[in-house]
Amino acid sequence: MLEGQCLCGRVKYRYDGEIEKTIICYCKDCQMAQGSIFAWNSPLQQSKFEITTGLKFLKEYFHSPNKARVFCQECGSPIYSYRVDLPDIIRLRLGTVTQGYLPAPSEQAYAQYKPDFLYMDE
Ligand SMILES: [Zn+2]
Ligand SMILES: [Zn+2]
Repeated sequence: MLEGQCLCGRVKYRYDGEIEKTIICYCKDCQMAQGSIFAWNSPLQQSKFEITTGLKFLKEYFHSPNKARVFCQECGSPIYSYRVDLPDIIRLRLGTVTQGYLPAPSEQAYAQYKPDFLYMDE
């Protein structure tokens, strides 16, 4: 079981499952969307994910027509993304998790955009 929330706390969620795999993505879109060096994500089953409070604060942004980036429009925290053609899988932004076990990342995508000062075991 996993719980999390956005920065302002208006949006809270629960995941009725375990996180098995986490991914770091350094692509430029993720850097811009997070305002940081990388996005830390996990693919989850949408059917086990529930927004427990604050659904009305969520907004979807389509930077590319196929991919929704879902964030709290009050505080701007990115919560998850999903592909329109794969709506059963959401990619949770793991910095918003407050309860539950998060395994170390097993994959680093777009590592060519990783800053030189950042070292991580492959
Ligand atoms: Zn918020
Ligand atoms: Zn990315």
